[in-house]
Amino acid sequence: MMIDIFELPVIDGHCHPFGPHGEVSVEAFTDLVSFPGGSLAYMVEAGLNEDDALRQELQRLRRNPVYFRHLVTQMAELLGCGPELEQVVAARNEAVRAGEGAYVRRLFGACGLVGLVPDMGYPQPPLDVAEFRRHVPASIAPVFRIEPLIVELVLARLDWPEFRQRFEEALSQALGRQGYCALKSVIAYRTGLDVSPDNRSEHRGRSAYDALLRRSPETLGPLLGPTQVAPDLKQLREFLLCRAMELCLEYGAPMQLHTGIGDHEINLGLCRPSLLMDLLRVPAFRACRVVLVHGGYPYQAEAGYMANVLPRVYCDVSEGVPFSGGAARRIYAEMLEMAPLHKVMYGSDGLAVPETYYVGAKLGKRALALALDDLVEGGLLSTAEAERAASMILAENARALYRLE
Ligand SMILES: [Zn+2]
Repeated sequence: MMIDIFELPVIDGHCHPFGPHGEVSVEAFTDLVSFPGGSLAYMVEAGLNEDDALRQELQRLRRNPVYFRHLVTQMAELLGCGPELEQVVAARNEAVRAGEGAYVRRLFGACGLVGLVPDMGYPQPPLDVAEFRRHVPASIAPVFRIEPLIVELVLARLDWPEFRQRFEEALSQALGRQGYCALKSVIAYRTGLDVSPDNRSEHRGRSAYDALLRRSPETLGPLLGPTQVAPDLKQLREFLLCRAMELCLEYGAPMQLHTGIGDHEINLGLCRPSLLMDLLRVPAFRACRVVLVHGGYPYQAEAGYMANVLPRVYCDVSEGVPFSGGAARRIYAEMLEMAPLHKVMYGSDGLAVPETYYVGAKLGKRALALALDDLVEGGLLSTAEAERAASMILAENARALYRLE
């Protein structure tokens, strides 16, 4: 038995914007749709030559995860071509040649994708929201990421009052007249999720900032990159995250926090959602609606538990779905062990090209149907309850939280 959810509309609660790419080579397609690991630049920095052998090694790495094989099969089925990667890329290029807008509409239509909540902070430099709106046939509720702003302002070496003022003005404008629906932080990629709520005080923010500026300009730039843990920087990032959450409270907007795995820059030891407990349960932040983006994968049961005990905490399944391939069903199942049905959201972490959104939505629907079927067969939900839960998780929960039209 399989509950019938395949015609339901989908809102992608976490993804990234993309522009037209035109036709692409097989290698470029591989790089665009695969999980972002093993870039050429990363290995060239290790002193290796940028030659064919290295290129082939990295292409093999990207093409062999189960997710990638699944994407190729799914695209071949949709495009009605042979199952090899080369055949799929040729068929998609032919469709793009005939009209890229129509191709995007076809993919979105085939999986019922009607709304997106894109984190505009990746890729960098940022794509334009208005242009992205023109490129995709879906409602868009953009999210503003705080880290690029932090880098820009720290490197400007302003005095503290001006630094603080410019940070807050930028976030207020984003949530106000610029129409962003939420803020987002990737502090999990930087100094980790073990954020101390004590660092929300003005004094802590200021002393950390002053200490940071006493460093020489040459050491400051590299320090702001991935996974650098310097005590002053950690304290400053935590102060700024707290300020961002206070502004979310003021504007009634949700705060998205990256949790769980990411690309090679992630602070892997400090990405578990439970590390956020101290921050999220202080009275000052209990009222802030917080989304544990990626549901902390592979710690999704932990994220689901937090969505249960913390009244305003939510989670989504993005990134684990679709990039972990066969884990999709288990991710929903484990999240739904404790999470209330109105606090779990579908998401894909789709980026770069429309194929990742399409394959994500298809896999996201099938895995959800399987996970809910298990609950029906186990006598835990009725079929009607499971179908209702599916429409909430696939679209209604995100629509309400991010106020999508
Ligand atoms: Zn993302």
